[in-house]
Amino acid sequence: MTKSFYPPLRTLMGPGPSDVSPRVLAALSRPTIGHLDPEFIRMMDEVKEMLQYAFKTSSPLTMPISAPGSAGMEACFVNLVEPGDKVIVCQNGVFGGRMKENVERFGGIAIMVEDEWGTPVDPAKVEAAFAANSDVKLLAFVHAETSTGVLSDAKSLCQIAQNNGALTIVDTVTSLGGSELDVEGWGIDAVYSGTQKCLSCPPGISPVSFSQRAVEVIEQRESKTPSWFLDQKLVMGYWGGGAKRAYHHTAPVNSLYAFHESLVMLEEEGLENAWARHQFHHSALRAGLEAMGIGFLVEEAYRLPQLNSVFVPEGVDEAEVRSKLLANYNLEIGAGLGALAGKVWRIGLMGSACNKQNVLLCLSALENTLSAMGANITKDRAIAAAEAVYSS
Ligand SMILES: *Cc1c(COP(=O)(O)O)cnc(C)c1O
Repeated sequence: MTKSFYPPLRTLMGPGPSDVSPRVLAALSRPTIGHLDPEFIRMMDEVKEMLQYAFKTSSPLTMPISAPGSAGMEACFVNLVEPGDKVIVCQNGVFGGRMKENVERFGGIAIMVEDEWGTPVDPAKVEAAFAANSDVKLLAFVHAETSTGVLSDAKSLCQIAQNNGALTIVDTVTSLGGSELDVEGWGIDAVYSGTQKCLSCPPGISPVSFSQRAVEVIEQRESKTPSWFLDQKLVMGYWGGGAKRAYHHTAPVNSLYAFHESLVMLEEEGLENAWARHQFHHSALRAGLEAMGIGFLVEEAYRLPQLNSVFVPEGVDEAEVRSKLLANYNLEIGAGLGALAGKVWRIGLMGSACNKQNVLLCLSALENTLSAMGANITKDRAIAAAEAVYSS
């Protein structure tokens, strides 16, 4: 007989999923009700309102999609890209490459603006791409590149798109709740995120928001949106305002209880305080790592506090370190991707995982593991360096 599955208790400090708050897990286990139940609909309206707060937008077309962040990405592209449309796609890591895939699969023409992995999107290159191409419909870029730990200047990039009459699609999967984001203030037209990074919630839901301009473009499409499930015009019938809700698909009822709870927690903490918390614990982690002699991949000005890409010390087998951290400390950190594989670790400080206990656990587990393996690091300094930040 197969037995029930009980996962080990891990500390998740990788690129996501990150630690889920016990409050959110408790919400997940509440009794399932019908997805057209008036009480469920009342909860959905609260989710929409709190999501507007989290994204900083008043747009009524703000809602969670019943699928992971990648589906939110696809929802933005499938609704806004029509065959022959020109889209400037910025790529400075893994996720820009997926944007290109989306553009091409929906018949668009991707004009690539590439920056080295570990550096932000260069606004001057985006300006040049607009200057070299007429009739660009969309600019798409990743705000927080989880594959490298880089933050790009979304505000400036959106301004460039607006100056050139283009709409914007912005990936905020890792920035929402962790770094400053102002969807309406920056004029973002289509934005998607995920629940499992800085929102302390399990994976599987993708919040999205579309501006009024984007809605008009979607409504004026010449071709039928090639995805039935992600067609925003149909989804709106379910999530749209008013008492009359049309059946579209069965909402993941319990996952939405969880998401609701994570948004309640964000409201209680305050958006700006959540951003500041990520920055604060990042400073402590950084002080500890640097005291150990471990350096950062990304230049300080563009570092994501919630995703720290740090160099593996010379001669160390990075995968062995990760498996020891998991086996001995129940601690998960992430590996490098692409050209950075084997060279960096990605240490996440996202959502509920972003706290002092985790910072100290990570520093001591890493120091013990590395010194037992004979790595060339400075010992007995890291915890004091982190504590110095905490007591400052
Ligand atoms: C995690 C992530 C995604 C994909 O989200 P899933 O929930 O895994 O589909 C997209 N973009 C970025 C920047 C991410 O970090």
